[in-house]
Amino acid sequence: MELTLTTGRELPPPDAAEDGVWLQCIDCDETYAPFDEIRYTCDCGSLLEVRYDDLPDWDDFEGRGVWRYSAALPFDEGVSLPEGDTPLHRVPRLESAVGVESLRVKHEGMNPTGSFKDRGMTVGVRVAGELGVDRLACASTGNTSAALAAYGARAGVETLVLLPAGKVAAGKVAQASLHGARILEVDGNFDTCLDIVQDLADRGEAYLLNSLNPFRLEGQKTIGLEILEAHREDYGEYPDRIVLPVGNAGNTAALYKCFRELVAAGALDVDDVPKLTGVQAEGAAPMVEAIEEGNDETRRWDHVETIATAIRIGNPVNAPKALPGIRETGGTAVAVSDEEITDAQRALAGEGVGVEPASAASVAGLRKLRERGDVAADERVVCLTTGHLLKDPDAAAAAGAKPQPVPGDTDGVLAHLQD
Ligand SMILES: *Cc1c(COP(=O)(O)O)cnc(C)c1O
Ligand SMILES: [Zn+2]
Repeated sequence: MELTLTTGRELPPPDAAEDGVWLQCIDCDETYAPFDEIRYTCDCGSLLEVRYDDLPDWDDFEGRGVWRYSAALPFDEGVSLPEGDTPLHRVPRLESAVGVESLRVKHEGMNPTGSFKDRGMTVGVRVAGELGVDRLACASTGNTSAALAAYGARAGVETLVLLPAGKVAAGKVAQASLHGARILEVDGNFDTCLDIVQDLADRGEAYLLNSLNPFRLEGQKTIGLEILEAHREDYGEYPDRIVLPVGNAGNTAALYKCFRELVAAGALDVDDVPKLTGVQAEGAAPMVEAIEEGNDETRRWDHVETIATAIRIGNPVNAPKALPGIRETGGTAVAVSDEEITDAQRALAGEGVGVEPASAASVAGLRKLRERGDVAADERVVCLTTGHLLKDPDAAAAAGAKPQPVPGDTDGVLAHLQD
């Protein structure tokens, strides 16, 4: 295995480095000082990555949650609720039904606002404080807006969120609303919302906290660090494969960066890097298309539809960072139907793990790849579930059993139970 997108050490820290941290273009290698000016992308138009002149080893980590890994982050602490330290569930029935050596579920729905977005926000909002901005903004399929609203509230900074009208699950809008975000319902899909908020950010109207912002991905890297540490503790080895739902592909990019940094630091053998395996919904699968066709870029899908609204995205902004991650780790990408997603959501719920539809895509994708023989029986697999069941109560109620009306007396209830 060879990881061609390098990171950190082999390049000397440029003049742009502040406390050993800088931003570097993934294409042209141009570097920028991280906190002198507000910048999301390189002048050449490509994505930026956060770089460090010193990468940590496992013994540099202490404490719990995202900030346990501060040695791998730009700051020692952030605006925290706190986040991370999520469970790595055992799911024995699902494990034997899928037919793999081991299956664990990393439930990111257990973060403070119910999704992994909190990991990115604790770092991103800290950076916003460093830059001294007074308004934070994001486009969102829901969870980013919930996280931004909560972390913005905690930091005492105004928040603005752009949502695709009618396409955001109820729990997420409720969160953004109560945490005090100004919510704009846009007549368009997520990709349109992101185009608009990027324009607003470019015009200096707000600080952008979508995953285009490279600091978000730093926080999300900690998912990988937690998985590796917990898996090693339980099995004495790292997982062979990590399966995750893919929308904007920020998490895929973040996990890949996590692995590259560990390899560069000598903390992970390159042959132990888990295979990154992305799952999309059939109605919104530009990453799967790019992997299948061997393309370096995704084609923008203008019409996207799926019950998994959190990954209803046709133009994944982090594709240039994530596609090499899937390829170079020996992973793959697969699309699943809404029905397969709902089945997987029920199967997870049957193990006590309550997730929203997008999250269940990881398990649905693993099932499909195992059936196809693309995942082997002797693999140790971790599926990432990205958001909590209560995020989308309508989807949960539709997938679950219907409440049964009964009379208001015990005899009537007993009679009903005997039917
Ligand atoms: C944001 C989100 C995703 C997509 O993650 P990316 O990093 O954009 O690929 C998947 N599931 C849930 C629940 C999310 O909130
Ligand atoms: Zn560049």
